[in-house]
Amino acid sequence: MSQMNSGISNKKGLFLGPSQIWRPLILVMMVLLFSSLHPSPSLQAANPSLSLSTSPNQTSSSPAQKIDEEYTKKILEYTSEKFFLTELVDHLPASETVPTPADVLGEVIGAPNILHYTDEIFKYLGAVAEASPRVIIFSLGPTDEGKEMMTVAVSSEANLQRLPRIKEILSQLADPRLIDEATAEKLIAAGLPVYWLTGGLHSPECGSPEMLMELTYRLAVDESQFYRDIRKNLIVLITPVLEVDGRDRYVDTYLYKKAHKDKKTLPLVYWGNYVAHDNNRDFLGVALKLTENLLRAYFDWHPTIMHDLHESVPYLYVSTGTGPYNAWLDPIMIDEWHELAYVEISEMTKRGVPGVWTHGFYNGWAPSYAFYIAMAHNSVGRFYETFGAPAPTLWCAQWALRPPEPGIGPILPCGR
Ligand SMILES: [Zn+2]
Repeated sequence: MSQMNSGISNKKGLFLGPSQIWRPLILVMMVLLFSSLHPSPSLQAANPSLSLSTSPNQTSSSPAQKIDEEYTKKILEYTSEKFFLTELVDHLPASETVPTPADVLGEVIGAPNILHYTDEIFKYLGAVAEASPRVIIFSLGPTDEGKEMMTVAVSSEANLQRLPRIKEILSQLADPRLIDEATAEKLIAAGLPVYWLTGGLHSPECGSPEMLMELTYRLAVDESQFYRDIRKNLIVLITPVLEVDGRDRYVDTYLYKKAHKDKKTLPLVYWGNYVAHDNNRDFLGVALKLTENLLRAYFDWHPTIMHDLHESVPYLYVSTGTGPYNAWLDPIMIDEWHELAYVEISEMTKRGVPGVWTHGFYNGWAPSYAFYIAMAHNSVGRFYETFGAPAPTLWCAQWALRPPEPGIGPILPCGR
């Protein structure tokens, strides 16, 4: 969705910075990864003994694992409201072998006034893959400007070793015309779901590429039962930046403004190979390398879920829509949008994170989202929308701590 604009009175409100916006997303990523272990029948390839509900005992750090004290101190410093912190994200587990984002890039994720170019993001993910047997890195293909769409796969070491077989199983399951019910059951028992997270499709929505770096680290190193279950029962694919060329141009404009505070912010024109925000609509015509690469990757992996991260509306919107839904989409899949959304809302709400909501926009009629390829093939396509932060500085959302005044207010710079 589009970035927010400013324009009304500056009342005292909630201070939102990069940590505030992105860190709850890290939390909810964890919750959804956990919830995806408990899918409805069409997704069952995971451990059925796990419960839908999580408790802090399950999700907090392993008692044996040390905490990265320095990084944790910065998390607490940069997150201005306590209700954005939960046991999942109020600390960073330490690792003796895998570097944190701060080790490679110099600062923690969510530090004010820092945005990373894609070569820095890929350098970090490459360092994690180099250091951890639980992470591999590869490209989905070149962009229109000749850069690479880098992606990581995270799972247990044992799962990654049998990745070719898992992909083969998913490929067979993807075409029910060629297998019978009994074969499908056997394949499901032997396979694993793939949960594919994608960020940075819309370059002015600059948070998800940052957050996904820290999420990769947590998935790779955290030894709590919560993370062990995720690694055991899922292959997590993470593409931190779908629109690589546009991201780099966006960082250019941000750094120009940072260096020239008296000058106007440069408009982000001609990004996404001139398509700009409508890269989400390119599945109608497949004019972009980004779309070609996504389609190829979809048919290579047959992910069980594609989940795209956006920024536009207040709080955190978990996609379901209200219908009437596209009657030609599988109704079981539409039901699964709701199942996943309700679990995530419950998990976030019980941890005191305010305002996670669903039943906003979406109905599945138009193939106008990058994840539509999944929905058109009976995988689950879904998305989040959250507070937009056009720059990695602290922003003020006047409606956040009280009911909104008529209409939805804009995000205002707080001057902090
Ligand atoms: Zn968007």
